[in-house]
Amino acid sequence: MGQFTCGLIGHPLGHSISPEVHRRLFALSGTQGSYELMDFPPEELENHLPALRALDGFNVTIPYKQSLLPLLDMVDGRAARYGAVNTIKRTENGLTGFNTDVTGFLRALTQADIPLTGNVLLCGTGGVAHMMACEALERGCVLTVGARTYGKASAFADELTARYPGSRVEPSALAYLSGSFDLILNGTPVGMYPNIKDIPVPLNVARSARAVFDTIYNPTETALLSRVRAAGAKVQNGLAMLVWQAAAAQEIWTGKTFSPEDIDTLCHDMAAYIKEHFA
Ligand code: NAP
Repeated sequence: MGQFTCGLIGHPLGHSISPEVHRRLFALSGTQGSYELMDFPPEELENHLPALRALDGFNVTIPYKQSLLPLLDMVDGRAARYGAVNTIKRTENGLTGFNTDVTGFLRALTQADIPLTGNVLLCGTGGVAHMMACEALERGCVLTVGARTYGKASAFADELTARYPGSRVEPSALAYLSGSFDLILNGTPVGMYPNIKDIPVPLNVARSARAVFDTIYNPTETALLSRVRAAGAKVQNGLAMLVWQAAAAQEIWTGKTFSPEDIDTLCHDMAAYIKEHFA
């Protein structure tokens, strides 16, 4: 195959680092590829479908991860289970949806030697939180779900216990959380650039955790991670997840694979890139 034409749809896309990650991945695998940002509002999605069908593949971010699903021709099993796609490939059967955020999430935890077990606090109830909740419950974790309001947390807990009967899911408002956890997963944007001083949970709860995974990658060390690292916990940021999900997307599009060593190097390079462009 000649040139791969790929891209990212979302709204608003702001300062996405995905084009840079994909440019470096194409270079690593020796693939001729382009990756364009396509920022348009939801009411224009259907108008853009013909142009999207002409691409070899594309990534999907907020607000399309769930709303694109019914417009696809096929959906991979995991993506269907979470109700969310982030990677689309043009196949002979039409547009096929996948979820590579999960690949990124699990590889990032493994890289930091953080087990997805025990008593887990999940902050957030959005797309990424759904994926992390499913993976945690399928491994038998006891889950506390924290949201801005108790009502939102409670509705999410009900949804999860209906989907995973017999699982233990406790709801809580983030501000009123107490207790200690083996692992905290941050699936909210709290602490993201430019509001880098914010943390999503009370400090005493954060400090009690054995390990913390933050989906945020800008900054690479959020206030949450720096506080818990100082208290001796294992930490991992969202950059490894971002780079691994991008690598998994390119593997789906091009069939070429990446070594863990190359991805580790790319994570370091992208951390430097973020510091240079956003500090
Ligand atoms: P989403 O579907 O919009 O969900 C965002 C969640 O965060 C919602 O539950 C929202 O709650 C909550 N939230 C937003 N602002 C909050 C605040 N100030 N206090 C408490 N909760 C708040 O977004 P998503 O796709 O799941 O993404 C969530 C995070 O993951 C983002 O920071 C994103 O950058 C990150 N992410 C990282 C990667 C990666 O590869 N590293 C991939 C995807 C996403 P409400 O419903 O109350 O607004």
